[in-house]
Amino acid sequence: MTVYDLHCHSTASDGTLSSSALVARAARQGVHCLAITDHDDISGLAEARQAATGTSVRLVNGVELSALWNRRTVHIVGLFFDAGSSALQEALAAVRAARHQRADAIARALAQTGIGGALEGARRFVTNEALISRTHFARFLVDRGHVSSKQKAFDRYLGQGKPAYVPPPWPALADSIGTLHAAGGIAVLAHPGRYPLTDTAMRRLLSEFRDNGGDAIEVFSSSHTPPQNERFVEYARFYGFKASLGSDFHDPGESRIDLGALPPLPLGLVPVWSTQ
Ligand code: AMP
Ligand code: MN
Ligand code: MN
Ligand code: MN
Repeated sequence: MTVYDLHCHSTASDGTLSSSALVARAARQGVHCLAITDHDDISGLAEARQAATGTSVRLVNGVELSALWNRRTVHIVGLFFDAGSSALQEALAAVRAARHQRADAIARALAQTGIGGALEGARRFVTNEALISRTHFARFLVDRGHVSSKQKAFDRYLGQGKPAYVPPPWPALADSIGTLHAAGGIAVLAHPGRYPLTDTAMRRLLSEFRDNGGDAIEVFSSSHTPPQNERFVEYARFYGFKASLGSDFHDPGESRIDLGALPPLPLGLVPVWSTQ
């Protein structure tokens, strides 16, 4: 049986392992096909490709795009694209610039709650100068003892509706799908169970994602409970989406599920890799 893991993060975004260390860990974990899907950045892929050469791991190009649907953040995993696409590279650079502006605003909001020095503090956890994320602020807040865990940093400060939440200026969902298609890739709705939507709103998201050319959804994710996995298997069938799966691994200490540790896709679904 071929083991797939098509969602994880390296130091090119908010993971703590380099992309070559991720490839080595994937090999140890028995992963045969791996996608490293950094947030809005593909600079780790070249190193990963070199590291995978001569190993049992087949690497496919991956990225996780931040997008907006109905003023909410949704994540789109892009797979199998041409990493040399200028349309993709320009879109990613624009999102990274927006991330820097949002980081300034997050730091100002934290200062208002009495937490100073947050931008410099978060930057100490940044491993790719081009890419700053809320995870880096969360690690700073834990390090300084303001909260006891990364999750609490989101629950108290950084999550939607909390004092340091800054509405993110991401591209619209349809534009992100278009960018991936322009680069010859496919668009996968990441961890759909993580979005706090009613069932009606979830159906609307899935319909609009499909109508805008979305190709697949992650049915198995470390963000999902077992009932959510089952629910998204059903939705993949109902809407005619291909199926993907990924651990969303970030860090050996922080992540609940290791690389390659999800169960295989159930029979009857069309896997994203079936046409590659
Ligand atoms: P950003 O893309 O900068 O808004 O940050 C999003 C990242 O923060 C996600 O990819 C997760 O790694 C992390 N994250 C978001 N929400 C939470 C949460 N509620 N608990 C823990 N980590 C989270
Ligand atoms: Mn992340
Ligand atoms: Mn995500
Ligand atoms: Mn992710």
